[in-house]
Formats: sequence, C-alpha cells, structure tokens
Amino acid sequence: MKLSQKLHLGSANLAEARVLPHFVTGFRDGNARLGEFRLSRTRLKTPALFPVFNMLTGPAKGGLGNTGGIFKFLKKWVLLEQRFPSYLSEVLHFTDFNLSPSMLDRWLPRDRSKTIHDWVNEWFLGEGVGPGRLTLFSDSGGFRLLFNSEMDVERFGVRPTPASILDLQLRYGADIVASLDYPLPPNTPPPEEVERSRRSLANALELLRLLEQVPETDVPFPYLAVHGQTTEGIRRYVQKLLRKLHSEGFTRPFGIAVGSLVPRRANYETIVALVHAALDELHKTERFDPGAIPVHVFGVTGDMIPVLSFLGVDSFDSSSHVQSARALGYYEPETWRPVPFRQLDDLPCDCAACAQMRVHGLADLKSIMDREGRVAHRSKRTREPLLKSQIYAWIAWHNLLLHSDEVETTRRAIFDGDLIEHVVRFGTARPRAQKLLSYLGNVDPQVQARLEHVPISLFQVSSPTDVSSIGAYSLAFTPDDFDVGTLGYRPAKRKEVLLLLPCSAEKPYSQSRSHQLVTGSLKKAFGKRTARIERVSVSGLYGPVPEEFEELDQVAGYNYYLTSSAHKQIALVTERLARFLQEHRGHFSMVVGYATSRAYRRVMQDAFAQAGTGTLLPRSPTSLSHTEFARTQNLSELVGWLCSVLPATDIRVKSLVAN
Ligand SMILES: [Zn+2]
Repeated sequence: MKLSQKLHLGSANLAEARVLPHFVTGFRDGNARLGEFRLSRTRLKTPALFPVFNMLTGPAKGGLGNTGGIFKFLKKWVLLEQRFPSYLSEVLHFTDFNLSPSMLDRWLPRDRSKTIHDWVNEWFLGEGVGPGRLTLFSDSGGFRLLFNSEMDVERFGVRPTPASILDLQLRYGADIVASLDYPLPPNTPPPEEVERSRRSLANALELLRLLEQVPETDVPFPYLAVHGQTTEGIRRYVQKLLRKLHSEGFTRPFGIAVGSLVPRRANYETIVALVHAALDELHKTERFDPGAIPVHVFGVTGDMIPVLSFLGVDSFDSSSHVQSARALGYYEPETWRPVPFRQLDDLPCDCAACAQMRVHGLADLKSIMDREGRVAHRSKRTREPLLKSQIYAWIAWHNLLLHSDEVETTRRAIFDGDLIEHVVRFGTARPRAQKLLSYLGNVDPQVQARLEHVPISLFQVSSPTDVSSIGAYSLAFTPDDFDVGTLGYRPAKRKEVLLLLPCSAEKPYSQSRSHQLVTGSLKKAFGKRTARIERVSVSGLYGPVPEEFEELDQVAGYNYYLTSSAHKQIALVTERLARFLQEHRGHFSMVVGYATSRAYRRVMQDAFAQAGTGTLLPRSPTSLSHTEFARTQNLSELVGWLCSVLPATDIRVKSLVAN
C-alpha cells in the first residue's frame, strides 16, 4: 500500500485509493467548498455537522431506545425520527456512566460481531422504520487518557495505545475515526507542548499504519489530529505532519482535525487564528491535494459555522447544545444567546422541538422544572407523563436545530456563490461573528478583497488585530454570566460526598493538573466508589460550579483567579457558596473542602461557618502555596478523611486510616 514516489491524492487520481474511504470536493466558493465523504457504508455531504451523542449509557438489554436520560429522547427525535445523517460518539464516553466491563462487551462484542450500527438497525426496525444510514465519527478520547486515568479504562480491556483505541473504534463500527491525540489546554508549558505534540503526531502515523491491517469492508476514514497553542505552533505541527506522511510514502486518504479548541472557544479570534493557520499550511502544501483532505474542527460550532466554512472547514462536532440545555439555556433564535428557560415568556421559534413544547404549554413545562425529584409529572394539557429529562432534551434539540439549519443554509450559500454575503448577513445579528469577519480581512488578503464589496457601515468595529497579542481566554465574563443558584441544580442521588476544590487556570477544571492530582489520588484509594463524590469547583468569578457545568463556554472560557485582596469578589463567592451549601447540605453525608491558597481557604471557611457544615483540609498546612496542594501528606489527609464515608479499596489506604 506504500508508494515511494510522490503521489497526489486528488479526487481525480485516486486510482489505488478508490476503494478506500475517501473525500471529494466539488463546488467551491473561495476557500469554502461542498464535498462528500465516500465511506465504506455511507456517503455524507459536507459541510457536515456531527452532534455528539452518548450511546452507551446503561445496560444493553433495553437496547438503544431505552437508555440515557436526555440522550434517550434526543436519540429518538434526532436519529430515529429526524434521520439526521451523522453523529459523533467519543470512544470512551461509557466511562462516565455506570457501565461494567461485561456490559461494554455485551454492547460491543470483542469479535466485532455486533456494532453500534447493528444496535441502531435493531432499534429502528423495532420502531417500524427502515435501517439507519448514519455516519458515525468516533473520537479518540485522548484527553481522558492524558493523565493517570489508565486504570479506569484498563478494566474494560482498553489500553492507551493507538492499536487498542482503534480496536475499540472498530468495535463501534466507526465510519470515521480520529487519531489518539493529547490536547494542549491554554498555558500548557512549552516542554509539555513539545512532548504531547510528539506523541500525538507519532500516533497519527501509527493509525495510518494500523489501518493497513483492517479488512476493506470495515476500514474507516482517518482524521489526523493537529494541535497548537499559537499560530506558529500549529503551523509547525501541520508542516511536520505533512512532511512525515509524505516521506513515509502514505497514499491512504486522510483528513486533518484541529483540536485543543474547546477551552479557547469563548475567544473567537483565537479559534479563527488557529484554524486559519492550520488551513493555510494545508493549502500551501505541494505534497498533497488539499481538495482531497477534509478539515474538521473539534468541539466548535454555533455562530462559528459560517465563518469556519468560509475559511475552508468541512466538518464540525459539538455538544454545546446539550451543555447549554443542562444549564437550562435556550438559544434565542435570532442571536443564539442562551436565555434562561425559566425566564421565557413564550417560545419565539417554529422548530419541531418548540412545536412539541407548545403542545404541553410553556408555563406547565416551567413549573415541572421547578418541582423536586425525578418522577414523571403529568402534562396538564395532554395528561402524558413528562420527565424533566424530556424537557432538557427539548431545549437541547431546539438548540441543535438552530445549528444544523445553519449548516444547511451555509451549504446552500456556498452553492449559490454568496457565502460571504451570507456571513455578513449572519454577522449583523451577531456582533461577535461580524467582528471576526473584519479580523479575517486583516489576516487574509483574499478576504480583504471580497470585503471591499461589502457595505462599509457593517464594519464599524473593524480594527487590525495582532494575532500574537490574542489571549487564550476571554476577560469579558462577569459573575452574572454564571450563577448555579439560578439553574435548578440537583445533585445526583448516588453522590454522598461533596468535595469542594479551588478553580484552576486550565479549563475545563477536570482536565487541569491540580484537579487531576486530587481525582487521581481518590481513584487510587476508592476505585469505582469515586463516583459517589460530587466534585464542585469554587470559581473565583462565579462561586460554586458543579462538574456538569464545566464545559459551558462562560465556565471554560474565563480567566480569573481569586486573590486575597479582591474583597468584593471574595464576599460574592462566599455568599454564593454558603447559599449553595445551605440548599444542598441535606443531600450529602459529608461536605469537605480542599484548598491551600489563602483566598480560597478563606472563602470555604467562611461559607462553612455560615452554612453550619463542612470541613476544610488540609487542617494545618505548613504554608499556603501551590506546592502544598500537591503534597502527598495533604492528599493522604483528604483520602483518610473521606474513608469514614467511602470504604477504601486500596489496602495501603486502609492501613493509613487504621494508624
Ligand atoms: Zn425552537
């Protein structure tokens, strides 16, 4: 399969690769293009959106139609009824749910005798509709494997290697796979960036080698991940990848997938600068035909869709419609700003989701969301039983429909040759998108030339932006952008311990060094029982942030660290935390905070006193510093403290407690 001579992979000269899954482009409008994936099982038109779906969320016996809270409804509406053609499932998502290794094997037998497509078809046939022709993109889960969470996946027989991850992706029956990669959160130190990039790149090449062994009928299309914290960094990465692919003589079709964008999502200029740099390197290459190389951006959609398509991006994935819905954020149809569902007076939208909500009446749905517990409530109008998860799912579906309609509109605009006009129209209702376009004009002369034909009044905000000066996070967020007290948050039943940790500079918090350190120690000590701990971060800007809200744009995208001189902010955070504890203390058998910086300790201590609950650890740190946070002795103190509620699985911990 390897050729030594130079070979262009083009839609017209795929002589050897024709039988392999590949990508072709047709109609173009500037760099934007209409294309098609020609895969082993399906074909998929681009630009394409892959909404994120969690498929394996419980035991297999009920099949796909009967599992998964919000996703149970979303799967039914979007995949079964709406017949949406594509979705993304992150390969290790089942580790977030209470799935045992034998349940995983039941879902996805190791001999690949039943894939997720077979489950989909079984479900569809049971509902009296024909087999699904869904294109499944399987992400690699690299961010989960980056730290010491190996033991989590090893009990499922999965190892953090390209071969093992590909094997799991094939068990799903993935049509498109991403290479095993290691993301670069903002502020990743340079030596760490070099090491992670080296490993991600080696894994990309390894994936292509491994695909040579996969039977032709099952072989997926590979998206190779690229990363960079700066435009120079990502350019170097893309150059190196293309050089290596060429020097090793690979002729297999591949795509490029830009990662590490999620924690930078709130800062639009950064996203556009990084994606633009990656695309620019790709378009410059003489080694391959860019027309045969699709480009994906991980975790970014929304109002970026037309702008990124304009740059030449072919596919998107996102879970932000669900993330927002979990926080009861309903996208306002014109501006796409999340509006708190409880504050809606009407449903100003005629999508299928809103039509269904109107049948039951908005007021009734709002009142159901205010009620306690998870039992089904009866719709006043239809007498149907309604679960809260169904209402969350309606909001998520409405949010998703706005995005998927926009992909459709963008596709049409490319075909009509007026994408730039569409982007401008789109931008007038959304100031951020408008600002981006003017920014684009400054980095891309082609764009500048086209912008000269656009009415100037639209670009009053235009000012040259220096790419190197663009920060990773937005400083524009205020405490009003997130307040858990307004969201109707309820801890899950199985959570017995409330653990408060200070927020981190790296986002999402769960991926930060400090949180990984703590969760790593806890997993070592308590194994599966760690799932009984509710981890809530104390944000210096927002106050308490339960884990389920960590990936909201305003939470993943702010940059603020509390210091002891910020008196007003300390008072606000303390007040919110005390209120949070008073509201939820009854749910937990233990409340514990772990902090070693002065400001965060003060917040926790005062809030504990006000709420009359909670213990602050370490009890007596030798100093108040970051190094103290990581000290083994202090982490052991935390583990020992939790042992009175959670029986430890690790024998060394047991002895530690006995002493
Ligand atoms: Zn709607």
